[in-house]
Formats: sequence, structure tokens, C-alpha cells
Amino acid sequence: MRRKHVPIRTCIGCRSPKPKKELLRIVRTPQGSVEIDETGRQSGRGAYICRSQECLEKAVKGRHVEKALKCRISQELYDELKRAFHE
Ligand SMILES: [Zn+2]
Repeated sequence: MRRKHVPIRTCIGCRSPKPKKELLRIVRTPQGSVEIDETGRQSGRGAYICRSQECLEKAVKGRHVEKALKCRISQELYDELKRAFHE
């Protein structure tokens, strides 16, 4: 019997484990910039978050994005994330 392996990642907002494809990946590129990784395949250190406004708020308030990526996150990126979740 073959089973499909589903990669699980933990949301940095609500801290619950979810299938990777349900989460949005934020990546710190080797060049040092932080971006939303729509493809989930960019190289660099990644953090995962549910596509929900609530989790974003939690992640922002607790500075979980910074902690996960070990760098500062610009207001621009937060705005970008907010827009991404509204779509
Ligand atoms: Zn979440």
C-alpha cells in the first residue's frame, strides 16, 4: 500500500500544523530580502503562515515572522501580506 506523503508545516501565527500547500511561505532570500514565496520553492530560510488575517495579526504582534526568519520585516512586506490575504 502506498501513501501520499503530505508535508506539514507549522503556522507562525496560530502555531498549528497544517499541510504545507494550505500555508503561505515567506522566505528570506540568500540576498537578504524577505519576500512572499508564491511558488513555495524559493531557496532561503522560510516561514509558513495560514492564509488568514487573524494569523497574520498574531504573527505581527508577536514578532513571529522576525523570529522565524531571524531578520527584520519591513512595513511594506506586512502591507503586502495583508493584501495577499484579502484576495
Ligand atoms: Zn495559522
